[in-house]
Amino acid sequence: MDLSLSHEQTLLVQTVRDFIAAELAPLEAEVEDTGALAPEHAARIFDRSRGLGLYAMNIPEAFGGGGLSALDTMLVEEQFGRTSDILVRRAFGNVYEVLLACEGEQIDRWLTPTVRGERVCSIAITEPGAGSDAASIRTKAVEDGEGGWRLTGTKHFISDGLVSDFFVVSAVTDPDKGAKGISLFLVDKGAPGFTIGRDQPMMGLRGTSHVELSFDDVPLAPVTMLGARGMGFRMALGVLGRVRLAQVGARSIGKATKVLDLMLDYARERRQFGQPIGEFQLVAQMLADSALEINAARLALWQTALEIDAGRDPRSRISLVKVQAAETLGRVADRAVQVFGGMGFCKDLPIERYYRDARIYRIFDGTSEIHRTVMGRALMKGEPGLYDPFA
Ligand SMILES: Cc1cc2nc3c(=O)[nH]c(=O)nc-3n(C[C@H](O)[C@H](O)[C@H](O)COP(=O)(O)OP(=O)(O)OC[C@H]3O[C@@H](n4cnc5c(N)ncnc54)[C@H](O)[C@@H]3O)c2cc1C
Repeated sequence: MDLSLSHEQTLLVQTVRDFIAAELAPLEAEVEDTGALAPEHAARIFDRSRGLGLYAMNIPEAFGGGGLSALDTMLVEEQFGRTSDILVRRAFGNVYEVLLACEGEQIDRWLTPTVRGERVCSIAITEPGAGSDAASIRTKAVEDGEGGWRLTGTKHFISDGLVSDFFVVSAVTDPDKGAKGISLFLVDKGAPGFTIGRDQPMMGLRGTSHVELSFDDVPLAPVTMLGARGMGFRMALGVLGRVRLAQVGARSIGKATKVLDLMLDYARERRQFGQPIGEFQLVAQMLADSALEINAARLALWQTALEIDAGRDPRSRISLVKVQAAETLGRVADRAVQVFGGMGFCKDLPIERYYRDARIYRIFDGTSEIHRTVMGRALMKGEPGLYDPFA
């Protein structure tokens, strides 16, 4: 087993890392201060990223994307974790793999323009009454008698919703069938009866909008159903599994790595009692614990990505990585505030921002409790290999 990266992989990571350092990092403070990314900055980072072939890298080349393997996607996504969410969205895209279910006319209307960056997409599953229990949604799509649908319901917390041109929306189409009665629809902004509501204020992720959506008898043509009728819940679980690994697992590890870089710089420079604080054993322990947890989480991430590349569907292992990476980030960000002392709490430095941003990773894309429940079930069923590769 060789875990060393190829020359191409190293080059890819370095290109993304350099791009983030040169083009995105200088915008972080402005996004944080103003709560928004100015349109001219958004346009510039999009153009430059596309020019370097860095946009929509997770999408197969056949659809105009970068065609990266799962492992290469994780390498890149780890680097994305080093900067602010909104900058990643505008520079590299929100091209969710669920759009690969597009067929026929859908490809030209929704998939291709999104891969090109001409349209922005959000995923709308969560409702005020249905979060972890995503099968209990109330939004419903009723047949209109002409092959189309009428959509009614409410969603909330929908990331990037103020910018999005269309939404992948889950709705009940067959109320008697439980989770097998949920389907996905492609709903364009501006559809009659569709209102994009307020931007819900959040503790972190400044600059990214999180909106309420309301659908009041919205007419939907037959072409708007994404994938087969009744497959929406399975599609959302399956595709969001990979999104979860990338956007939560890999990005948490990238963010934790960036935070540890900053902790190390400070531990070397900051002197108290006549010596760098990193030479106090109690501070060194915080650095060492952070390094060992980041390293373990990254190895679990790579192992899981390699399983996906080998054609397997390591669902419970994705849950394991999601929890391990998000909780590692939480602990590392907390230690960072401690190592920086008062400056860790002060808004003059970005440490308090990393601390706030870290908190959501244990909640979205399935809470730690839900993922532990998935793992617990898999363990009780005797799923081989979740902790013992020789089982
Ligand atoms: C910043 C942000 C961005 C988001 N972006 C999106 C998006 O783009 N699209 C989208 O559809 N959704 C999005 N979400 C929603 C997100 O995925 C949900 O918040 C998350 O799934 C948890 O659901 P909930 O908030 O309703 O919490 P609840 O499900 O109400 O959970 C509350 C608590 O109960 C616990 N709990 C619930 N069920 C169980 C159980 N069976 N066993 C043990 N504990 C349990 C939870 O772990 C949690 O601690 C976003 C949320 C936020 C905050």
